Amino acid sequence: MTAHKPTTSAELATETEVALERAVTSHRHHALFSMRASKIKQSAVRDVFDISLRPGLVSLAGGNPFLQSLPLEKIGGMAYKLVTEHGLTALQYGGGQGIEKLRVQICEVMAEEGITDADPDNVVVTVGSQSAQDVACKVFCNPGDTVLCENPTYVGALNTFEAYEVNVEAVPMDEHGLIPEELKRRIDEVRAAGSSIKFLYTIPNFNNPSGITLAAERREEVVRICREANILVIEDNPYGLLRFDGHPIPPLRAGHPSDVIYMGSFSKILAPGLRLGWALVPAHLQRRFYLASEAVTLCPPTLNQLLVSEYLEGHDWRGQITTYRDLYAERCAAMLAALEEFMPPEVSWTRPEGGFFIWVTLPEGVDTYPLLYQAIDAGVVFIPGAAFTPSDKPSNRLRLAFSAVAADRIREGVRRLAPVIADAIAA
Ligand code: PMP
Repeated sequence: MTAHKPTTSAELATETEVALERAVTSHRHHALFSMRASKIKQSAVRDVFDISLRPGLVSLAGGNPFLQSLPLEKIGGMAYKLVTEHGLTALQYGGGQGIEKLRVQICEVMAEEGITDADPDNVVVTVGSQSAQDVACKVFCNPGDTVLCENPTYVGALNTFEAYEVNVEAVPMDEHGLIPEELKRRIDEVRAAGSSIKFLYTIPNFNNPSGITLAAERREEVVRICREANILVIEDNPYGLLRFDGHPIPPLRAGHPSDVIYMGSFSKILAPGLRLGWALVPAHLQRRFYLASEAVTLCPPTLNQLLVSEYLEGHDWRGQITTYRDLYAERCAAMLAALEEFMPPEVSWTRPEGGFFIWVTLPEGVDTYPLLYQAIDAGVVFIPGAAFTPSDKPSNRLRLAFSAVAADRIREGVRRLAPVIADAIAA
């Protein structure tokens, strides 16, 4: 007998939730959970992670960097040397803010995109930028406060926000990114409803999941609106250096050292398994931020910090970024060409200028969550759009990642997906 397959997102969510909740609520420890524990959900990206590993399947789901292009031997040699020659330091605890030499190098990385006034004293090294997001919530958010984000936005950030029991308000975007007038309107509405807004969380370059970039001419206005409303901007920029063509657009932080907390990461320009990111924090907030970070992790991993520092000093890291960038540009072009070739005419998609993702829009009313099951049967996986909105409402959009799959497999994946979508549109 074949297993029943959910046919609506509500059914799917219910089945999964029911099974998980049953395991949790049947135990006497259930009474011990905090209120916030019930808000922490498994992300849809993690849900499909195991499925993605099935042989023969084309995974357009995970935003994984293509690590095959790294100089593994060289990095291995650096790691070996660090442990054998400097093991007593490299394997020891370190300072909570991160190793100073690495913080200086991080300032050089940020300078590549136009932040030229960063002070290493205001950099806090974190366990990926994911933990920087957590620290920001810890420092600023009380339950019931509001944080603003783009619609759609990064699922991991939504999970973090929800765990802090904040109200998440998503501000609409168009093809040029966050719409300033909508931001202003949403701020006024939330204030009128009596909630305190703490920050705007934005991914200005090649947004995850939409691939959309906030236009240069909007960046000043977004910061101005937030400053006038006394709201911080959290600029999450893990993909900024992966722009396919031309010069980077200066980050929101570039001209606004007091209004923006900037978050960067080595996950996409080097490797995510190192779990190293950072926050560049306005000087007046730096102490609170780093004490909160220390309270979570004591210190970022010493060996990994030393390894990244060694890599930045002893390897052409700019060249590596160019290698990554050219590879992703080629894969993005392959995906765009395949979408053009195979998708029905009712389907549209974004054309990213960098990063890992394309955001595909189906006609109104087609829910992409149940489509995932048909797609798996057809041998391809994606992430349904509902994962990237705070409300989890059914969505007619889906995210495709082109970063980790070779161009011919991308074409094959899109070829498999297109009839599933065509059938759903026809139904
Ligand atoms: N922000 C965004 C927009 C991301 O896409 C990701 C990872 N996919 C992260 C933050 C987390 O990155 P890290 O590995 O640095 O924790």
